[in-house]
Amino acid sequence: MSKIKKIGVLTSGGDAPGMNAAIRAVTRTAIYYNLEVIGIREGYRGMIERLFLPLWTHDVSDIIQRGGTILKTARCKEFRTEEGRKTAYENLKEIGIDGVVVIGGDGSFTGARIFNEDYDIPFVGIPGTIDNDIYGTDYTIGYDTALNTVVEAVDKIRDTASAHTRMFFVEVMGAEAGFIALRSGVATGAEGIIIPEIKNEEEKLNQLLASGRRQKASNIVIVAEGDEHGGAYALAEKYKDHFPDYDIRITVLGHLQRGGSPSAYDRVTASKLGYAAVEALLDDQKSVMVGIQNDNVVLVPFRKAVKLHKDVNRDLLEISEILSS
Ligand code: ADP
Repeated sequence: MSKIKKIGVLTSGGDAPGMNAAIRAVTRTAIYYNLEVIGIREGYRGMIERLFLPLWTHDVSDIIQRGGTILKTARCKEFRTEEGRKTAYENLKEIGIDGVVVIGGDGSFTGARIFNEDYDIPFVGIPGTIDNDIYGTDYTIGYDTALNTVVEAVDKIRDTASAHTRMFFVEVMGAEAGFIALRSGVATGAEGIIIPEIKNEEEKLNQLLASGRRQKASNIVIVAEGDEHGGAYALAEKYKDHFPDYDIRITVLGHLQRGGSPSAYDRVTASKLGYAAVEALLDDQKSVMVGIQNDNVVLVPFRKAVKLHKDVNRDLLEISEILSS
């Protein structure tokens, strides 16, 4: 018999579509195994300020399709301090929480890993971030929805770009990673993809445009916000001078990429991972993330998930260059 009788669940860091589906899966799986479930509001702040609320089956009804997170999310400075984590531990102990599921990104997992070095309440993580930049899992919850949002938006931009023979620089999210830019670029047939992982891409773009090969009605360049030039505005400014013949426009998609109803893929992934996270706690796992590799659920130590770098699929960039030329 597992010693786990009551678990906590929280969402932390940046929000992502599908977090609610994960909360639902964690809650329903725990109830199935006769565990009590406590929702912890506003990420780690909720542990320190005791923002606890019991979750029952009906509390997670009708949320699988909703973006955002019913538990709210936050960034919490106090949890970065020893004192903050001690208070969190004491509060968890006081209400009898034996294990915690953290839905968040690598910052949240770093906090969880540090907490588990000092305290005996096991933490298990579910990767929830639109950026997909977590090592050890092929997909993070929210990534697929964000991709679909970007594709829908870029398709619309393509219509107006073609109508006017314009060149658009479209900035997408990804402060440190180009996953969204690369995949959405392939999916929309973008003529250029600029991502932080690859330097001097702009040179390639330069050559491509200067070569005169391109007699297209429109050009779309997808730029990850964290690229080395400082995003779409900086890059477009540069091209304005190089190519006075182009009518250049810029669109920054911004936070609309974070919202919306999660895609079927994100809902299913969230359901699988929510279930797996509770099972992991029951199996006495701690300091691990549940992830997806080759469509199978795997356990990855936080230590690896936060330290190791996940690279983009460079083949995809090459394919994109061939297909959009
Ligand atoms: P994400 O989980 O989306 O990467 P953040 O990087 O903002 O988001 O991290 C979320 C929260 O995790 C932080 O507000 C903080 O409470 C906690 N956290 C992040 N890094 C650490 C750390 N080094 N030590 C303790 N807690 C941390």
